[in-house]
Amino acid sequence: MYLIYDDLYLKHQSGPSHPENAGRLEALMDALKVWKFQDSIGIVNPYPAGPDQIGMVHIPSYIEKIRRLSEEGGFHWLDPDTGLNRYTYESAAMAAGGIFKGLDLILGSDMGPGKFFAAVRPPGHHAFPGRGSGFCIFNNIALGAKYAQSKFKIKKIAIIDFDAHHGNGTQDIFYEDRTVFYISFHQYPHYPGTGTCYETGAGKGSGYNLNFPFAAHTGGPDYIAALTETVIPLMEKFKPGLIMVSAGYDSHYLDPLSSLELGEDSYYKISAILGALSNKHCQGKMAFVLEGGYNYRATADSILETLRGCLNFPYPEKFQGSEQLEEVLEITGGYDIRQIKNPFILKKNNEMAESFGV
Ligand SMILES: [Zn+2]
Repeated sequence: MYLIYDDLYLKHQSGPSHPENAGRLEALMDALKVWKFQDSIGIVNPYPAGPDQIGMVHIPSYIEKIRRLSEEGGFHWLDPDTGLNRYTYESAAMAAGGIFKGLDLILGSDMGPGKFFAAVRPPGHHAFPGRGSGFCIFNNIALGAKYAQSKFKIKKIAIIDFDAHHGNGTQDIFYEDRTVFYISFHQYPHYPGTGTCYETGAGKGSGYNLNFPFAAHTGGPDYIAALTETVIPLMEKFKPGLIMVSAGYDSHYLDPLSSLELGEDSYYKISAILGALSNKHCQGKMAFVLEGGYNYRATADSILETLRGCLNFPYPEKFQGSEQLEEVLEITGGYDIRQIKNPFILKKNNEMAESFGV
């Protein structure tokens, strides 16, 4: 398993006293140094994405605007939440390039099965083709999906987003695209205001978008129920060639910006389940892309539990992975039905997913 990281990610600033700051990644790298499984992780430096590559998702005038404002120096606001400094273009290009580098490693080399976690900033899932918002500049995970499709001919990709906020940028980019299935778990109502059960895709992408708008104070059991009862059966039908995860840790119970209640154990279970699913359908290839997470310590510890969830269930060489997925679900997939906070949303999404013509 690889961790993609570069010190350039520390240089972008989202704003003065801003919750999205370099301390998030500094805490992770500090925690990694004393982690007892650190030898299982290979830390890899990325390369910057070029303007043409960023252009797979973003319009040229927006890319140029970010480059120009960064070059001017000083500090500029893109919206009331999202700012940039002189290093933002370089950091954001290196963040997108971080996903490309991870994909090169797991899809392009003959090193066999592999997973990576891209510990990048600025984050990406609120970035639209022509505008950044919600602390996001370029949509890293959408760029990664486009890169995997164009360079490595991956036909179908699932993006699973467990950041506390709805990934409105990512949903928008793939809303009419049936080759990328976007699934989001998020607090609702909450920023950015989108992400209802009724947003299920349009045109050719109709039935290829699914939102779980969870109430404040939702914890792990609802996520496990959604994964085991809806997402896994849906993905068994969709059969993605690659699973990508928008890994946002503002869904942690200690996060200052949101009110969801996942703990480190929840991220471990989610990671183990999705990892086993990728072992079954994607030859063990899976990409985690960091989004939010604003309690430094909780984010760092939760990322390490995400890594451990994958490391504990490596790609099974000798069989297709069906048995492993069953085993993982037996260990991690149980939940107490009395702790479920969103029974109607879970039921509705289950019925909708069954009706999708995937
Ligand atoms: Zn978020």
